Formats: sequence, structure tokens, C-alpha cells
Amino acid sequence: MRVGFVGLGTMGGAMAANVARAGFTVTAWNRTPGRAAELAGLGVTFAASPAAVAAATDVVITIVSDTPDVEAVLFGPGGVAAGAATGSIVVDMSTISPSATRDFAGRLAAHGVAMLDAPVSGGSEGARKGTLSIFVGGSEADLDRVRPVLATMGTTITLVGPIGSGQAVKAVNQVILAGTYLGVAEGIVLAIKAGLDVEQTVAALSGGAAQSWVLANRSGRMLANDYPLGFKVALHRKDLGIALQLARETGTALPISALCEQIEAGLIGAGHADDDMSAVARAIRSLSALEA
Ligand code: NAP
Repeated sequence: MRVGFVGLGTMGGAMAANVARAGFTVTAWNRTPGRAAELAGLGVTFAASPAAVAAATDVVITIVSDTPDVEAVLFGPGGVAAGAATGSIVVDMSTISPSATRDFAGRLAAHGVAMLDAPVSGGSEGARKGTLSIFVGGSEADLDRVRPVLATMGTTITLVGPIGSGQAVKAVNQVILAGTYLGVAEGIVLAIKAGLDVEQTVAALSGGAAQSWVLANRSGRMLANDYPLGFKVALHRKDLGIALQLARETGTALPISALCEQIEAGLIGAGHADDDMSAVARAIRSLSALEA
């Protein structure tokens, strides 16, 4: 199966590398040329547009930033829809709006092109290691067609419902992360202020009920007050916007997510949009007069 990649950022570059390493023929495009140094030497062909990627492949994976960006690479000038053959399939692995996803799937179907939404969790580490969790919305038959490709990027692939459902599950994921990051940040700040050995405290907690991926992988950054990527604050704020919109549509109250979204808005205003999301600790630190 010939695989196309549109979007070679932090996630897309690492994911395309795993697909190529597994032996698939990969054709790729990125808006800004020259990104994704990790693809050097893997035999990846670079195409001139998303349409050219689609024309050369059977499945096109899109992994770009936000809902309007997916719309642009699918339906804009030189977009996937202009080049994709009838019977091909688009797998959007970006994190975007569930309702827009359903709209995009309908517009692709008019071109005879199938679509799955397949957003991911597991961070840049998971993308590099090929251990992502992938939440798939769409038909089982379409998933079966692309499962061997997805299996090179992730270890847990779950069909969660019809098209758009993967994005709804991802919104739930981001809501849970909002609370987890804020909770870990508060715990680390309390440990610092209480004069504890913070690393020993984290190690002691790691076998108990407070254990989490965030505690294990991001508390060190919060202690050091240094937030290399990772997952950008701006992208998590974008994801909480999607979750809060879904909450409005469904009559759901999300107080912690709304708080986290506002903290992230402040961080973005202060120039920290490209910090790792663990930088929410800057705000919690500053409330207790620690360096932010
Ligand atoms: P990133 O490093 O900022 O890369 C974004 C990619 O999207 C780049 O290739 C960028 O191209 C492209 N792009 C953005 N707008 C575009 C447009 N209008 N037209 C064409 N290309 C466009 O972001 P990332 O971390 O890889 O995240 C990508 C997606 O995965 C997002 O939806 C994010 O929420 C999701 N995600 C990220 C993580 C994570 O830990 N990083 C985890 C799970 C899910 P340029 O190079 O030209 O800017």
C-alpha cells in the first residue's frame, strides 16, 4: 500500500518515519519545505502539493494543526480532494472538531473518497516510538484497509464509533489531561514550598493512586521550570476549545477545562505559546511566589 503524509511537524514527521521504516512507500508534503530531518535516508519522496501526494498514493494521512488547516489541505487549492482517486482513503490524525470532521467526510465522499478520523494520544515520545493510542471514527471495513499502516504508528487502535467519534474521544482525553496537568502542577508547587525532596516525593507517589503519565513524564519540567516540546500550549488550548464547544452542544459543564483554557490563554499572551503544555505550572508557581 502506498502511503501519503500531509503535515510533517512534531507528530507527522515522526509518524511518517515509522511508516517508512516499516517498509511502506511514503510520499509526503509539508507546507514549509525542509522540516522532518528524521525522514532523511528513509526513501521518502517529497511531492509538490497535497493533491500530488494523493495522486501518488492509496491512503493519505493528514496531520496538521487545526480544523481550518485540515480543510485547507483537503479542499484548498492543490488539496487532497483534487488529486485523490476514487476508492482511495483519507485518514485525518490531527486533533480537530468532530462536527467539521463529519462535514469533511461528506465532501470527500462526493469525490468517491473514504475518510476515517484517527486522532492520537501519547505525545511526541509516542510518535517517535510508534506507541501512540489511536481513536478511530468511521467504518470497520475502512479501518481494516489501513490498520497495517496505523499499526506502525500506534500500539492501541480502537474503533470508537462512526466518523467524528475519534475526535470526540480525543476531546475527552484533553479534558482529562487539563485536570491532570493542573493537579500535578499544584502538587509539585506544594512539595517545593513544603521543603520536600521533590524527586523523592514523585518517586514515592509513583506506585500509588496519584500515579499518572503526567506525573512520571512532566513533573521534572515543572520542578526545573523549563518546558521544552512536547506538546505546545497553543495546541492544547485549541483542543480545549473543541472540547468546550462539544460541551456547549451537549449541555455539559467543564469547570476545570474552562480554567485551564484561561490559564493557557494567559500563557500564550505572555509569549509561551510554543512551550510544552506542562508550562501551565508557570501560572501555578506564580500564585505561590515561585519563579514563573
Ligand atoms: P506542529 O509541530 O506545530 O506541526 C503542525 C504541522 O501542521 C506542520 O507540518 C505545519 O506546517 C502544518 N500546518 C499547519 N497549518 C497548516 C496549513 N494551513 N496548511 C498546511 N499545513 C499546515 O504540531 P504537531 O505537534 O505535529 O501537531 C499536529 C496535530 O497533532 C495537531 O492537531 C495536534 O493537536 C495533534 N497532536 C499533537 C501531539 C503532540 O504531542 N505534539 C499529540 C497528540 C496530537 P509548517 O511546517 O509549514 O508550519
